[in-house]
Amino acid sequence: MSLYQTQKLKVYNSLTGEKEVFEPLSEGYVGMYVCGPTVYSNVHLGNCRTFMSFDMIFRYLKHLGYKVRYVRNITDAGHLENDAEDGEDKIAKKARLEQLEPMEVVQQYTLDFHSILQKFNLLPPSIEPTATGHIIEQIEIIKNILEKGYAYEINGSVYFDVEKFNKTNEYGKLSGRKLEDMIANTRELAAQDEKKSPQDFALWKKAEAQHIMRWPSPWGDGFPGWHLECTAMSTKYLGETFDIHGGGMDLKFPHHECEIAQAEACNGHAPVKYWLHANMLTLNGKKMAKSTGNNILPNEMFSGENNILSKPYTPSVVRFFMMQAHYTSILDLSDEALSASEKGFQKLMDAIGSMDNLPTSASSSFNVEEWKQKGYDAMNDDFNTPMLTANLFEAVKRINLIKEGKETITQKDKELFIETMHSFVFDILGLENQNSAMLNSDKLSSVVGLLIQLRNEARANKDFSTSDKIRDQLAEMGIQLNDGKDGTTFSLS
Ligand SMILES: [Zn+2]
Repeated sequence: MSLYQTQKLKVYNSLTGEKEVFEPLSEGYVGMYVCGPTVYSNVHLGNCRTFMSFDMIFRYLKHLGYKVRYVRNITDAGHLENDAEDGEDKIAKKARLEQLEPMEVVQQYTLDFHSILQKFNLLPPSIEPTATGHIIEQIEIIKNILEKGYAYEINGSVYFDVEKFNKTNEYGKLSGRKLEDMIANTRELAAQDEKKSPQDFALWKKAEAQHIMRWPSPWGDGFPGWHLECTAMSTKYLGETFDIHGGGMDLKFPHHECEIAQAEACNGHAPVKYWLHANMLTLNGKKMAKSTGNNILPNEMFSGENNILSKPYTPSVVRFFMMQAHYTSILDLSDEALSASEKGFQKLMDAIGSMDNLPTSASSSFNVEEWKQKGYDAMNDDFNTPMLTANLFEAVKRINLIKEGKETITQKDKELFIETMHSFVFDILGLENQNSAMLNSDKLSSVVGLLIQLRNEARANKDFSTSDKIRDQLAEMGIQLNDGKDGTTFSLS
């Protein structure tokens, strides 16, 4: 029996505005799509929070025993400046400014994205497709939408006809907007605008002569609209209908709204069962923005090289800080808040580290099963990680009481307690005990340093059998001693 059969998960569905019992389309399997980054600059800490939230969700679904196919794309074409319909491609612009090939820009920032996410201990998605790798699929979808009559071609570009779609479907249902209000609130179409209505969005844009990222199509050389890639890749890898679509709150409109319209126009039914949106991260109470200087890069957090911070913080401390808030709430980052999280994180790691040595008794004075279920109840309530964290600190309290002899635990309960604590902290929240890894490497250096000193003394006393024994036995353990002009150093082989 899988855990998901006994742990009833509820998720907040942005589409209905309600917490719903999570029932995937096929029992035991979950298809999840999350909008990935546009790789034209270093990944933003706010985006890291979004991806970390969905990493926690991915981890929990897997923990419950679901077989999860998690698709997170890389946007490497088609995303125009200001998320607008006109304007320069974000990647092409960066390539022009830095005199690089667009694919050099893509490579550079994809590597940066992966390296930061790895530091935060995010699991890789099952598939990470790119927009440029799916041009053919995108063209096929446009043909399909044209055939169904929900798009029109003009001067080598193809636009989605929002008004026509809205006659039979409901455009705006995810973001709670009404097309009539949108029309009333927009200015007249500019004279040079070729769209029928300002609400229409591009499925394919004609490439002007200077546009470097271009592909041939039935409508001439051009490039796909930004919203289209997610419809193409989610359909290809997860099917016409799948379980979870996630992304940042800021993508609800227009991006996700347009995804729904495209898929419904193509297939005649809704693409997604549960829409999940992660909220934003602010810095010292204000929106993060490069232009105002109220901004911090992930690497600056780890090195402490930003005057917003008094010191560096490890990726796990930052992750713990993020997990202490619910993913649908706005979270404000500040030096004080991080410093408080660091103290909490250390307390938690110290307590976990001491669990193996807890004394056991003939009976338990507290109910480990009940504590464990409280942790699951928190996660089952729309992934309530702050509630889970509170339950972990309840465990820290118990651990200390057991040490002081004020609470008792049986050997069997102790094993369950340790195992559950590890599941919650390391498997589900994705934390790592980085401080202890650092501490261990410090300890290793001191121990090997001591052995090097003893070996030097043995050599000075011409006791070569001892000095050789130290060198050879360390080598057997994979620790290589290297004698140089300035003394002996060691390396791990
Ligand atoms: Zn998307």
